[in-house]
Amino acid sequence: MAENDVVIGLEIHCQLTKLRTKLFCGCSSDYRDKEPNSNVCEVCLGHPGSLPKPNRKAVEFAVMAGLALNSAISEKTSFYRKNYFYVDMSKNFQISMYETAGMKTICEGGHMEINVGPQAKTIKITRIQLEEDPARLVHIGPIDLSPYTLVDYNRAGMALLEIVTEPDMSSPREARLFLQKLRSIMEHIGAYDGGLEGAMRCDANISIRGSERVEIKNISSFKEVEKALNFEISRQRSVIQKGGRITRETRHWDEIRKVTISLREKEEEHDYRYFPEPDIAPLILRQEFVERIRRQMPELPDARAERFIKDYAIPKYDAQVLTADKRLADFYEESVRLYGDAKTVSNWLMGDVLGELHSKGLELDEAKITPSTFVNMLNMIKGNEISGKIGKIILPELITSGKSALQIVDERGMRKVSDRGVLGGIAEEVFSENAKAVGDAMQDDNAVHYLIGQLMKKTNGKGDPKIVNEVVWDRVRKLRGGTAG
Ligand SMILES: [Zn+2]
Repeated sequence: MAENDVVIGLEIHCQLTKLRTKLFCGCSSDYRDKEPNSNVCEVCLGHPGSLPKPNRKAVEFAVMAGLALNSAISEKTSFYRKNYFYVDMSKNFQISMYETAGMKTICEGGHMEINVGPQAKTIKITRIQLEEDPARLVHIGPIDLSPYTLVDYNRAGMALLEIVTEPDMSSPREARLFLQKLRSIMEHIGAYDGGLEGAMRCDANISIRGSERVEIKNISSFKEVEKALNFEISRQRSVIQKGGRITRETRHWDEIRKVTISLREKEEEHDYRYFPEPDIAPLILRQEFVERIRRQMPELPDARAERFIKDYAIPKYDAQVLTADKRLADFYEESVRLYGDAKTVSNWLMGDVLGELHSKGLELDEAKITPSTFVNMLNMIKGNEISGKIGKIILPELITSGKSALQIVDERGMRKVSDRGVLGGIAEEVFSENAKAVGDAMQDDNAVHYLIGQLMKKTNGKGDPKIVNEVVWDRVRKLRGGTAG
């Protein structure tokens, strides 16, 4: 079966982590390290009589996201109650947005281009809406084996931006590329900090053409999306191959066992009995308001990639990779500012640094390397204190330890040996241990290169190649002169 019979649509929930407060109350948005159920008030717990008040900055971020994703910004939008009975929402409804007769969500339509290989592919956006985050449920081990569920309302009421795509993706990789670029856009507009755990979560609808679609709920991190989708495609193919039928259902991605498990039959929209939130007036987004935001829009990843190509003379592919993550793009620009040579910086960053991060399964912000420790290493190479080869050897430690290159080189005794006296002494050993090669070297330059290689080996690769070369040739020339005379 071909890859293109896979149909994937995403529903992304992105916390607006750069807001200071929750969506409808004054509770802090910085809930992560707090004691459970301490970061709450009557509004986010939904006590009777409490009044929610929309966060103006959240509305602005939603409009910015809409403009960045080429959506139409609705002139009038309102909040709805999405009714359901579940422990993660103590008031038994979630304040969200809804599309119904005459009423729209805050942004409608839109599209984003992702770079799949050399080709760009357009993924259509269905809608963008603001809603409140439910409480966090804590399970002991896998969800279906947990003896109990704990509930922490600290997260309840956090501003979420829900972004729904059309089912335009045809592989798990495309889904990952979409999410990566969305994350970069949300970081560039200043709404979201990608380093926070669980700040961007995703539900995925996935089907194999001709079969029912399955929803995978709450994939809690970026890195897990591709794994979850790959697992689900294999599972569905194997059901179909065995003559079974895919049932329409909601499944949960178990990050520990790396499998999806069935949770429940999928609800239909009418199960939620949406009705207008009576405590919040409709939002009227005037033209001037939207235009003011449009004028103040910061540089977005595509424009930044164009600028990188122009200003730093790097290939398009490099520029796209570097701007796919705002922290990587910032890291790059800061390093270029400190070091100067944009191409050397991008070569090291694109090749060695990203390669090492990838092999360790780390994101840049999980690593300890900084532009200054990185540039410090590049300067040691440029200043001939270490070779490029030693640079590559110490890079993994530079990435994980937070130590400076200088410190690592000294601790590991890897500083380049460029002292003629020291190298001359080692050369003497090499010459006495390789009498045959020394004999051959009287006529044969290849034998000289062999002796140079032996000397380098004795210095564990730390000999300054230029001086090692000179020391060996000096001795050989003297010996050749001696035999001639
Ligand atoms: Zn609150």
